[in-house]
Amino acid sequence: MSASLNLGRYAGIKVQIHWTFWLLFLFIGFMVFSGGGDYIDLFWSFLFIFALFFCVVLHEYGHALAARRYGIGTRSITLLPIGGVASLKDMPEDPKQEFVIAIAGPLVNVVIAIILYIFVPVEEFLVSDPELLEEQLSGITASNFMFYLLMVNVVLVVFNMLPAFPMDGGRVFRALLSTRMSRVQATRMATALGKFMALVFFLLGLFGNIILAIIAVFIYFGAHSENIVIQQISLLEGNDIRDAMITDFTTLSPDDTLQQAVDRILASTEQDFIVSEMGKPVGILYMADLAQALRELERTTPIREVMQTRFVSLQASAPLPSAYRQLRQGDRNFFPVMENGTLIGVLDMNNINEFLTLRAAYDY
Ligand SMILES: [Zn+2]
Repeated sequence: MSASLNLGRYAGIKVQIHWTFWLLFLFIGFMVFSGGGDYIDLFWSFLFIFALFFCVVLHEYGHALAARRYGIGTRSITLLPIGGVASLKDMPEDPKQEFVIAIAGPLVNVVIAIILYIFVPVEEFLVSDPELLEEQLSGITASNFMFYLLMVNVVLVVFNMLPAFPMDGGRVFRALLSTRMSRVQATRMATALGKFMALVFFLLGLFGNIILAIIAVFIYFGAHSENIVIQQISLLEGNDIRDAMITDFTTLSPDDTLQQAVDRILASTEQDFIVSEMGKPVGILYMADLAQALRELERTTPIREVMQTRFVSLQASAPLPSAYRQLRQGDRNFFPVMENGTLIGVLDMNNINEFLTLRAAYDY
């Protein structure tokens, strides 16, 4: 069983619902019934959640399609109880591109709000006397449904544009700062403001809105980890893959047996292996695949039958920061490093982390 419900691919991007999303319905059900509502109220509230999250998906498509313009793909759009997440495969370095991608999401909600404004008699809701207004807006019904949808889109724009990095407004803020200072400094400032705002949200949320408090926690840790990544990338700046790669490693032959690979793993700290033939890498044997294969196959089976033949090779002269980004994205973090068509090293995440640790140590 998968933790996320797959809703299919639209414009080539997978849309999925995280299992925690359904907790929102429990929460809404509790709110409706504890407020004295009935099943009709529940129906309209649930329908409203679907309409709201449809707008959230369109918002995420705004980010994803803007990113596509700059050649950045999107792995998936995931719906969580606190909103949507478009998992972009990369973040642009260029502040102008980051600005456009960040603002594209809220702009979608601006467009939705304008379209709704044309059809919803907003004046009727706003001009009426306070008592009547309270009656009209006490809960979601057929008559105020579209008005609420319009309002919630306005709220989405305002909330997302608050400069609480890594929310959209925070990314816009960093992009603007980046035009005046280094990206490392801009990130440090934007994430500091993001953390501060997260604390404010958390306190406000504690006394009123529990969802706001949860969002605050995500903002805080999101800001924290993104700041670390950017600082780390800056430590790698100016280095090539050659500087961090492993040069002392074992290559296996496609005709070696699974047992030989097991022996090598146990005798060393190596886990994954380049499989090469006549000095050229022809595959990668991952320990995870080996472990799986040992359950089904004889130990005398040649590695050829288990190795992955689709893999990416890195060039020794390529910059280390971009390799780091590439390694962080993939689930398989082990690459052959080539020079003039010859295998000269391997690179994995452990080794980059070692490099970072040492680099940070002698930077002080
Ligand atoms: Zn957004």
